[in-house]
Amino acid sequence: MFWQSLLDLIFPPRCEVCKKAGSEALCPECFNQVSFMKPALGIYSATKYAGVIRHAIQRLKFAKRRRLAEPLGVLLVKYVSHTPVLNMREIDTLVPVPLHPRRHKLRGFNQAELLAGSLAKYYDTPTINALARVKETSPQFDLPRDARLVNVKGAFKVAEPRSVYNKRILLVDDIYTTGATIAECSRSLMIAGARRVEVLTLSRAINDMDSPLLKN
Ligand SMILES: [Zn+2]
Repeated sequence: MFWQSLLDLIFPPRCEVCKKAGSEALCPECFNQVSFMKPALGIYSATKYAGVIRHAIQRLKFAKRRRLAEPLGVLLVKYVSHTPVLNMREIDTLVPVPLHPRRHKLRGFNQAELLAGSLAKYYDTPTINALARVKETSPQFDLPRDARLVNVKGAFKVAEPRSVYNKRILLVDDIYTTGATIAECSRSLMIAGARRVEVLTLSRAINDMDSPLLKN
């Protein structure tokens, strides 16, 4: 307690995005700037990968600001509660998209697992690390679309087939880009006998600016 107070005195806690002084990793102003999107094509993405969310995800992953996982998880819970078409009572298991063990070790955590953890706590649904990334792939952003599809082919395996067999699964990730990673994960889960796979991501990389927005 004493050391925390001393640290707070030397390094006052700030919002990770706008740097305003305050104890929260994401201040209320930043939190409230996030607008939700309507679900499209059976993929649930809470918001566009832009602005506050983009900044926050980058800080979480690349500056390893793990404290951002909590407010981002709260945003995801808020989105799900605003999206009745995604019924959490019809989900048996949450499965986070895994990182390759090497990247996981470097970062110290898997952001998808932390996000799934927030949902798990709120909805009392188990999270199972059923998937393993067996192939190290380059970050998807750096590759043209065709290369991405090749890039993730065979990148995942189901580490625990029994935990997904006949289950209704919600696959969780931080960003949906081309869908190549998500498609490959879903395919692996279906082959292992999952009854249904739905997809929830905190954000979605979108080029066009006219996607439907659902005001929070
Ligand atoms: Zn802020």
